[in-house]
Amino acid sequence: MARIGFVGLGNMGLPMALNLAKAGHAVAAFDATEAARARAKDAGLRLAASAGATADEADAVITMLPDGKIARGVWLDGGLLAALPAKALAIDCSTIDVATARVLADAAEAARRMMLDAPVSGGVMGAGAGTLTFMVGGANEAFARAEPILKAMGRTIAHAGGPGAGQAAKICNNMVLGISMIAVCEAFALAEKLGLSHQALFDIASKSSGQCWSLTTYCPVPGPVPTSPANRDYAPGFAAAMMLKDLKLAQAAVAEAGAETPLGAHAAALYEKFVEAGGGATDFSGIIRMLRL
Ligand code: NAD
Repeated sequence: MARIGFVGLGNMGLPMALNLAKAGHAVAAFDATEAARARAKDAGLRLAASAGATADEADAVITMLPDGKIARGVWLDGGLLAALPAKALAIDCSTIDVATARVLADAAEAARRMMLDAPVSGGVMGAGAGTLTFMVGGANEAFARAEPILKAMGRTIAHAGGPGAGQAAKICNNMVLGISMIAVCEAFALAEKLGLSHQALFDIASKSSGQCWSLTTYCPVPGPVPTSPANRDYAPGFAAAMMLKDLKLAQAAVAEAGAETPLGAHAAALYEKFVEAGGGATDFSGIIRMLRL
């Protein structure tokens, strides 16, 4: 059993903190909003008076916050890093830009604390079921200490490399996903014009070189994969606004690193158009509706 501080009790953070408590850890939780604190209290979590107070005698403190600016605000300006006991681990599970993840890791090193970036995939359902995938960046020793804690919230805990590598893995993976979803949607839209049925394209492409996760697990037309969001009017799943966030993070990293990702840039522009047209809360596979026009 470990003493764990948890900051950010939103759609993801609350079920994650509850899974830690269920696994027998002593959790002290905090959120900036009264409503989130009330939900956490009702669910049985012990609340701390502030983000910094979650670190009192903690073995580890975990954050699950909306973006890099807020994560930096909580860890650095808000004093959470400074409040961390000497041996405690700092783990940021938020999806943030690689550059900020490295700023946080550098600040932790300067303060002689161990910090990991550990963004997740698996969504709200995975957070509730404790089946998230964690992509972790940071030192081997910190990873070894974090693994048993992360296991209470996830099924796959992958060490991607040094500081920032977890965020890098997450945005590279999701850039593939955004591009491949658009490719599969365009193929179905073309098939419709050519008089090729959804099922025929699915049956052939899923056993040919067009096979990919966006086709066989998350098929963007109703029918071939009964569990995909297309069968429930594109209720998420993984909202298009979230996909846009990750594609923008990828583009920020592209600019910073001097890389070239023309398809990644185009996918970000298409998702931006879809979100601006009101599709943000729709599942990201719902972009087929825009691509058909
Ligand atoms: P959310 O908006 O539901 O939760 C964020 C919580 O952080 C809110 O309760 C908010 O009040 C709190 N917060 C904001 N500023 C704070 C501060 N200064 N101090 C303390 N608390 C503060 O978001 P979410 O869906 O839980 O996502 C959290 C992170 O997980 C994001 O980085 C997101 O990209 C990532 N993520 C989300 C999903 C998903 O499906 N929702 C999947 C994978 C990764």
